[in-house]
Amino acid sequence: AVKSGWISSRGKFIEEFEKDFSNYIGVKYGVATANGTVALHLALTALGIGKGDEVIVPDLTFAATINSVIYTGSRPVVVDVDPEYWCISPEEIKKSITKKTKAIIVVHLYGHPCDMGPIMEIADQYGLYVVEDAAEAHGAEYKNKKIGSFGHVACFSFYGNKIITTGEGGMCVTNDKELADKMRILRDHGMAPERRYWHLVVGFNYRMTNLQAAIGVAQLQKIERFIKKKREIAKLYAEALSSVDGITLHPEMPWAKCVYWLYSILVDKKIKKKDEIVKELLKRGIEARNFFYPLHKMPIYRKYCRGSYEISSRISESGLNLPSSVKLSERDINYIAEQLKYIIKSK
Ligand SMILES: *Cc1c(COP(=O)(O)O)cnc(C)c1O
Repeated sequence: AVKSGWISSRGKFIEEFEKDFSNYIGVKYGVATANGTVALHLALTALGIGKGDEVIVPDLTFAATINSVIYTGSRPVVVDVDPEYWCISPEEIKKSITKKTKAIIVVHLYGHPCDMGPIMEIADQYGLYVVEDAAEAHGAEYKNKKIGSFGHVACFSFYGNKIITTGEGGMCVTNDKELADKMRILRDHGMAPERRYWHLVVGFNYRMTNLQAAIGVAQLQKIERFIKKKREIAKLYAEALSSVDGITLHPEMPWAKCVYWLYSILVDKKIKKKDEIVKELLKRGIEARNFFYPLHKMPIYRKYCRGSYEISSRISESGLNLPSSVKLSERDINYIAEQLKYIIKSK
C-alpha cells in the first residue's frame, strides 16, 4: 500500500479485505469502516433507525453499543443478560418490546455467542432488525455457524486488542445488497457512487484506509492460529482454576464455540474482594481487569434503564478479565493461575 502510493481510503486492499473477511464470516458483503463504533452507527443509520424508534441493547457491554444508538436519535432500551453465559437474555428482550421497537443489538460478550436461535425467532415474530455487535467475537460460532451471519447486519471492530486488528478499524457485514450499498454511500459522505460531488444523503466519512486494509488482509491469514491460541489459553486457565472454591470459569454453552477474546472468571466476593485480587496480581506483574460496569449504573445512561438488572450487576461485580494475549506462553498462564490461586486462598 505504501509503495503504490494508495495510502488513503482508495486502493485495492479495501475491497480485498472486505471480500476476504465477509467470506470468512460466510456473508456476502463487507463494508470496511474507520472503527467498530462507527460501523454500528452506519448499520443503524442505513437501517433507517432514528427519532421515535427504540433499540434494545444489553446492560453488560462496552459503551459503544449504546452510544451508537444515541447518535441516531433513537432511544436505547437496556435489558438484563443471561446468568449462565453473560450475553443478552432472549426472555428479557421479549419483555421489553413495545410498538416503537425497531431493532435489537446483541453483543457476543468476551467472545461468547448470544443465543441466536430464540433471538432471531423473536425478531421474526415482531418484525425487528437484529444487529450483531461482534466486536469481541470474530470466529465464534453458534451451532456450528459463525456469528455475524445471523443478524440483518453485523459489526466488527479491528481495534488493537481485538481478535484481529488493523490498528483502528471496523466492518459491517450483511447478505442484503441494498443495505450494503446504502452503507457504502453513507460511509463516503453520502456521495452518489457514479457522480462525484453529488450528495444523495447527509453522509459521514467513516472509511477505512488502504493501509489499514492491507494489515487486515495479513491479519486475517492468521485468524485461525489466533483463535486456536485463545482456546488453548482458555483450556489452560480452566484446568488450573476449575477446582478453586469461589471461582466460576468462563462459560461455553453446548451450542457455542467461544473464542475467549478475554478469558474471564467470576470470583465470589465472599471468598475474596476483587479489588484486592487486582491489586495483588499487579504487584506480581499481572494485569487483570474488572468487567464493564453495567450501563444502568452510570448516570448518563440511567434514563434508558427500567428494571433491577440483578444478573448483570452480579456478573459485573464479580467479573475479572485475565491476561489473554496470544503472545502468552503456557508458562505465563500457569504462573498467572498459580498466583491467582495463592491470592484467593490467602486470608
Ligand atoms: C471494541 C468494541 C466496540 C467498538 O469498537 P471500536 O473499534 O473500538 O470503535 C463496540 N462494541 C463492543 C462490544 C466492543 O468491545
